[in-house]
Amino acid sequence: MSKLVQGYEVVIGFETHAQLSTQSKIFSRAPTAFGAEPNTQACAVDMALPGTLPVMNIGAVERAIEFGLAINAHIAERSIFARKNYFYPDLPKGYQISQFEIPVVQGGEVSFFLEVGKETVRKTVRLERAHLEEDAGKSLHEDFIGQSGIDLNRAGTPLLEIVTQPDMRSSDEAVAYAKELHKIVTWIGICDGNMQEGSFRCDANVSVRKPGGELGTRREIKNLNSFKFMQQAIDYEVRWQIDQIEDGHAIQQATVLFDPETGETRAMRTKEDAADYRYFPDPDLPPLVIGRDWVARVKGEMAELPRVMAERFVKDYALPEYDATQLTQSKAVAAYFEATAQACGQPKLASNWIMGEVSRRLNTSEMAIEQAPVSAAQLAALIGRISDNTISNNAARQVFEGLWNKEGEVDAIIEAKGLKQMNDTGELEKIIDDVLAANPKNVEEFKAGNTKALNGLVGPIMKASKGKANPAQVNALLMKKLG
Ligand code: ADP
Ligand code: MG
Repeated sequence: MSKLVQGYEVVIGFETHAQLSTQSKIFSRAPTAFGAEPNTQACAVDMALPGTLPVMNIGAVERAIEFGLAINAHIAERSIFARKNYFYPDLPKGYQISQFEIPVVQGGEVSFFLEVGKETVRKTVRLERAHLEEDAGKSLHEDFIGQSGIDLNRAGTPLLEIVTQPDMRSSDEAVAYAKELHKIVTWIGICDGNMQEGSFRCDANVSVRKPGGELGTRREIKNLNSFKFMQQAIDYEVRWQIDQIEDGHAIQQATVLFDPETGETRAMRTKEDAADYRYFPDPDLPPLVIGRDWVARVKGEMAELPRVMAERFVKDYALPEYDATQLTQSKAVAAYFEATAQACGQPKLASNWIMGEVSRRLNTSEMAIEQAPVSAAQLAALIGRISDNTISNNAARQVFEGLWNKEGEVDAIIEAKGLKQMNDTGELEKIIDDVLAANPKNVEEFKAGNTKALNGLVGPIMKASKGKANPAQVNALLMKKLG
């Protein structure tokens, strides 16, 4: 189902750095809070003073286990920390502690829905691994002339690097994957997901090839920290690579940066290979051993996962799979749905309203559902008034708007706006008789077999009733009167 761009197939694999939400660093006790004065949160270990030794933070390991369980991966019984050697001013040890040959999380998959044209399809991306590692510090160039500053607050911050197989075939799939992964890590609470602060940053490996051919050479776009830039960067990169190939140039493996100002990607450096880093097991850290009893305990303490909750919604509320997935985009949306569905007893209507009117209104006012001025109880009351035929769907949208603007409760708004459907048959019959008498031509045409002539009658009836007539009832009465 992959769509081609100028006859080329796009291939994308992701590496995502999720900052783990621990209070202290991965190998030291220094705090991880964001935004402190430079170098106030770096201890002797983070500064690499001689004689210091790293000590594993159990909280970071536990979060890696939770992630592995969330994506159905294998949690390694025994994984190894390795030194990844390179020089950088903000890396005082001269190496980063990471995992190389044996990562803590192996395999697993992330699956999500995607709109392709008018269809909704399910896509599954296989994960290769997720490993624990420490972040480096930061070099500061602003506020310095002819010099750089070094801030080691971030040094030693725990990261989980999550690596996919090259399974994505378009920028749309890549962004949908990134959003789903973001949902998973924030849902299980191992990462705050704050992209502006760099807590969730993605590197997109992009290549193109003729369909069925071997994988092309990839370029890696570093540090994409918004979904919008992610899409723009990949789209630009794909066009750039195709142009290069069409012009007869080979693609060089490289690391590139996306510039949001120009909308272009720019080569930063040619790509290092693993061999350049001289990886070797870190003698300061013993192998990380994770007993099955530990995994079982973590599993027992984890909250219901989004995909498990979605399955439950399908089963308990008889919702289509698509609805269930949409409603489990966040815990808050799911809770709002459950509260509404239980209060009104009409899960499918609750789902339609939340995915439709509620979400449209949240979007236009750029709000999260937690801030919605319409409570689940109010939405349930509104749905109740549709089901008991007090108001039409059209009127319900006006009531919803009233709720949103805090004009009062459902029944009060119906009353104030005069939106009650006309359920008095006598009154409605009189309107219908008047309209039939005033439109003899339509009546004749309808009787002669032209069913479209009915529209010319329903319109004036609805108008005469000021929109309060129940359309189903109007239809039934018309049929009766016209034979
Ligand atoms: P490294 O660690 O050097 O970046 P990996 O081989 O671990 O390299 O791959 C990193 C990411 O690149 C993975 O997500 C993988 O799926 C992706 N990838 C590998 N080859 C390609 C390719 N030809 N095109 C697109 N993505 C690729
Ligand atoms: Mg890489």
